[in-house]
Amino acid sequence: MSNIQETTLEINLAHLSHNFRYIKSKIANGVKMLAVVKASGYGSDAIVIAKHLEKIGADYLAVAYTAEGIALREAQVQIPILVLHPQPVNFSKLIEHRLEPNVYSFRTLQHFIKAATALHQTDYPVHIKFNTGLNRIGFSNNDIPLILSEIDQSQALKIVALLSHLAASEDHDEKDFTTTQIKTFQEIADKMNVGLGYRPMLHLSNTSGILNYQKAHFDMVRSGIGLYGYGNEAKYDQALKPVASLKSVISQIHILAPGDSLGYNRAFKATDTTKTATIPIGHADGISRNFGKANGFVTIGQQRAYILGNVCMDMIMVDVTQIDCQEGDEVVIFDATTNAAQVAEFSGTISYELLTAVSSRVKRVVIADKL
Ligand SMILES: *Cc1c(COP(=O)(O)O)cnc(C)c1O
Repeated sequence: MSNIQETTLEINLAHLSHNFRYIKSKIANGVKMLAVVKASGYGSDAIVIAKHLEKIGADYLAVAYTAEGIALREAQVQIPILVLHPQPVNFSKLIEHRLEPNVYSFRTLQHFIKAATALHQTDYPVHIKFNTGLNRIGFSNNDIPLILSEIDQSQALKIVALLSHLAASEDHDEKDFTTTQIKTFQEIADKMNVGLGYRPMLHLSNTSGILNYQKAHFDMVRSGIGLYGYGNEAKYDQALKPVASLKSVISQIHILAPGDSLGYNRAFKATDTTKTATIPIGHADGISRNFGKANGFVTIGQQRAYILGNVCMDMIMVDVTQIDCQEGDEVVIFDATTNAAQVAEFSGTISYELLTAVSSRVKRVVIADKL
């Protein structure tokens, strides 16, 4: 029976270890593994996840923002941490916490040189990002001469890696586009190597890049979603194990008579006698309002219970007319059986969004890995 007595996110570290080994098995010996722990470790707990990954042999971590990296350093995480999307206002703090910036524009390069120089740094490790088709952040191919001259004039920093990001590595209809991105990245790296007179590390692949494009592995890979148990494709989802399970309980059961309405705006009106269960999880916990009006479901006793009416801030009401259940029973939003990819797909979103939406007020319980 369930030991869940309130809305809880379980974080299974044995599953994280399993996924880490699985991703590792897909890359050659000597290719480094960077684990992406941004957005609270994809909605779980960045510190718990980062510490475990450090213990089981991750080479690098990455976060999106500087504050996320600082929190990891304050928790005594020691391995290198890449900040994927830093802002100049945080560069001094970033340096003080030994975080490595992803430098993606002349503005960030110039500000970083200034900050590193002011703090008397030499050879401070930076990663230089190139845009190869995603058109989000990154230098262009044409920027290479100017990057090299700016770097040349400063002792403060050293380019330890070049990176880019794939736009559609999970999409088999976009193989040509991805192959072109890989080729463009290699050409840029060749030019940079000549200009620098040494060869920084190269990294390009996210999880689907790792799983679908051996040629995109280079010196290091960056895995996020795969480590959390999702491979953007059913065959990989089967091999991986979801780390996070979001569960709750039935607070109360109501019987609606035909004509009764349910919830805010009376968004559901019963035409037949309807048994409903009220569950203490709402949009403030990460259940999007788009999941309302039968656009989303939870699982109770292995059966789907659709969300009726509007999602409230702290509650949802679901249809349990056909389900034998009682107040206090366990409710699964997603777990290893009904995974976040399936639940997300039903509601028109993706695992990434559903996982990272789980808000900080939801209780976290860590299930240890017996290492
Ligand atoms: C988030 C992110 C990743 C991880 O992507 P997954 O698809 O979760 O593996 C890798 N690289 C960059 C630049 C990212 O922003």
